[in-house]
Amino acid sequence: MIIDCHGHYTTAPKALQVYRDAQIAALGDQSGPRTKGGLAISDDDIRESLEGAQLKFQRERGTDVTIFSPRASAMAHHIGDVTTSLHWSQHCNDLIHRVCSLYPNNFVGVCQLPQSPGAPLDACVEELERAVNQLGFIGCNVNPDPSGGHWTAPPLTDRYWYPLYEKMVELDVPAMVHVSSSCNPNFHATGAHYINADTTAFMQFLTADLFKDFPTLRFIIPHGGGAVPYHWGRYRGLAQDLKRPRLDDLIRDNVFFDTCVYHLAGIELLLKIVPADNILFGSEMVGAVRGIDPETGHYFDDTKRYVDHITNVSDTDKRKIFEENARRVYPRMNERILAPA
Ligand SMILES: [Zn+2]
Repeated sequence: MIIDCHGHYTTAPKALQVYRDAQIAALGDQSGPRTKGGLAISDDDIRESLEGAQLKFQRERGTDVTIFSPRASAMAHHIGDVTTSLHWSQHCNDLIHRVCSLYPNNFVGVCQLPQSPGAPLDACVEELERAVNQLGFIGCNVNPDPSGGHWTAPPLTDRYWYPLYEKMVELDVPAMVHVSSSCNPNFHATGAHYINADTTAFMQFLTADLFKDFPTLRFIIPHGGGAVPYHWGRYRGLAQDLKRPRLDDLIRDNVFFDTCVYHLAGIELLLKIVPADNILFGSEMVGAVRGIDPETGHYFDDTKRYVDHITNVSDTDKRKIFEENARRVYPRMNERILAPA
């Protein structure tokens, strides 16, 4: 079985964006009560949005299940306040739940959290609990920078985040570290902001004792770990200079990378540098890069091809990367999707 740990509902029906536009437009009007409002999306709208996109690519590329979350760049936690984010997150998560209910063999849900710059995390804890216990979700996306490119939040290792981590540990669900859109013109969202955040999160984990406080807390750093595998020697050297644990020991049970690196040489490096136990197959389709690579004639984000083509990784390790690690890092997956007999 091939589990893609990284997919977003980037093709959601237009009504979702219509809702969001109206919600943002209403932010300037403080006269009435804050209403959540509703979404008019039919099951057929959902089917139509997926059949020609994520489901088509699953079939064409030979992947089985996608761990599926709301569109990351649309989380936009910097807009409005915690109530804005709560209403928006609940609608987005409910929509993912409908996707997973319509296609229970193809999608398993991961939730967006109602983060807001400077706000306490109570609403995130509640929404995570709702998503896991009521919607059957198996993880969450945590935005280390809800300000959208200005980095005003404390580091992920700060006690600010501990209420969320306590709930993640209690529910036994991991988080993917995933920023959203950038409102800082220096940082292109998917080209710079995402990769910056991946790299930044890793260095934060390296310099603090978070996993001593939470030995079972698990994070997936997406996009191949940002710049980390390429600069593994720098991070090993820094860890040594700073009297920190060896990197293999630091990440072993707690930090995982996906394979959302869109060329063979990058995947080869990732698999050569990072232990196979710490790599989860992911493609982020349909997502950040949607085109076809003229050098190969294949989609850039068809990352399964790259893993398939690597010869110096054992079949045992490929099974870990394609399925077993996802089941270990997202143990609730096993309640949703049975392992093949
Ligand atoms: Zn993503």
